[in-house]
Amino acid sequence: MTDPLIARAEEAARRLAPLAGRTERQGVDRPALDALARAGLHGVLGPEAVTGRAPSAPVYRRVAEVLSGADGTTWFVWFQHHPVVKMLAASANQELAGRWLPGLCAGTTQAGVAFSHLRREQVAMPATRLDGGWRLSGVAPWCTGWGLLDLVLVGATTADDEVLFALVPLAEGDAMAHGPPLHLSAMGGTRTFPLHLDGYVVADDDVVLVAPRAQWGVADAANGANVQPSTFGIALAALDELAALDPPAAAALSSRVEGVRERAYELIDLVPAAEAIDERLRLRAEALALGVTATAALVTAVGGRAVTGEHPAQRWAREATFHLVFAQTADVRAATLAHLGA
Ligand SMILES: Cc1cc2nc3c(=O)[nH]c(=O)nc-3n(C[C@H](O)[C@H](O)[C@H](O)COP(=O)(O)OP(=O)(O)OC[C@H]3O[C@@H](n4cnc5c(N)ncnc54)[C@H](O)[C@@H]3O)c2cc1C
Repeated sequence: MTDPLIARAEEAARRLAPLAGRTERQGVDRPALDALARAGLHGVLGPEAVTGRAPSAPVYRRVAEVLSGADGTTWFVWFQHHPVVKMLAASANQELAGRWLPGLCAGTTQAGVAFSHLRREQVAMPATRLDGGWRLSGVAPWCTGWGLLDLVLVGATTADDEVLFALVPLAEGDAMAHGPPLHLSAMGGTRTFPLHLDGYVVADDDVVLVAPRAQWGVADAANGANVQPSTFGIALAALDELAALDPPAAAALSSRVEGVRERAYELIDLVPAAEAIDERLRLRAEALALGVTATAALVTAVGGRAVTGEHPAQRWAREATFHLVFAQTADVRAATLAHLGA
C-alpha cells in the first residue's frame, strides 16, 4: 500500500537504519523522536478532528513494520506513544483529551505507558481513593522512555478491583522515581526502568479510565491476541538481507511470513475483535517463531560476522527473542509455548 505517512516512515528508516547499532548502545535521543513527530508519525492513530485525517490501522501497521525493521530501539520508544493516543481518544474525560491530544498527535508532547503489570494476578500498583483523586504506591516493572518522554500513562488497581489509568508527567520527583538499570539483552537503548511511585497523588482530572479489571482484561486479551506488526518488520528486514545470500531459504521463509501476515491482518481488519481469538493466537505464536527462525537463518548465512557488534543480524535475532515476551498475556504465553513445543 502507498500513503504519504508510509513514504515518510521509509524516508526516516533510511536515516535510522545505518545508525541503529549505535542507537542501541548509546540510547535513543529526543531529536530522533522529534524527527518522527515532524514526519507526522505520532498522530497516525489520532482522531480525525485533531489530525485532519482518519486514523488508519493499515497505515499504522506498515509504519510500525518499516520503523521496527530499520531501528528497533527507536521504534520501541515511538511505539509506546500510540496506546496513549488511542486510550485518550476513547476517554470519557473530554477535558483531559482536549488538553493533551493536539500535542500528542503532533508529537510535540511525547508519551509512554507503564501498565503491563495489570496483566499479572498480584497487584503491583494499588490506588487508594482520596478526596478528588487517588494515591498510587507501588512498582510498575517496565517503563520505557525515561528522560525522553513528557507523559506516562500509569496503570493501577483500586480496592474495588478496577483498573485505573492516569496520564501524568514522567519526571523524577518526591513521589516518582525510576528503579535500578535493567541491563537488557535487547532494547537496551530504550531507557527502560522500573517506575517507582510512593504516595503519588493523581487528580481525577488526570484519570483517563476507570473500569472493572475483568472487563478490561477481556478487551486487553483480545487485543493482545493479534500479531504485533513489528514482529513482521524484523522478520522482513532480516529476510531482505538473506535474499542476497541464500535466495531459496529467503524465498521459502518469506512465503511463510507473508502467509501468516496476510491472514493476521485480515482478521484484524475484517473480523470483530472479540472473535476468532484462537486463530489469532495461533497466528501470533507462528509469527513469533518465524521471527526467531528468520533472524537465525540470517545469522547462519552471514557467519561469524553476524555476531560482531555492528552487524544487524545479531540485533534482529535478539529483538525477535524480545518479541516473545513483548506485550505478552497469559494466552499469548500459552499459545507460543504450545507452538514451540509442537
Ligand atoms: C525491554 C522491555 C520494555 C518494556 N517496556 C514496557 C513499557 O514501557 N510499558 C509497559 O507497560 N510494559 C513494558 N514492557 C512489558 C512487556 O510489554 C510485557 O508485558 C512483559 O514483558 C510481559 O512480561 P512480564 O514479566 O511483565 O509479565 P509476567 O509476569 O511474565 O506476565 C505476563 C503474562 O503471563 C501471565 N503469566 C505469568 N506467569 C505465568 C505462568 N507461569 N503461566 C501462565 N501465565 C503466566 C501473566 O498473568 C501475564 O498475563 C516491557 C518489557 C520489556 C522486556
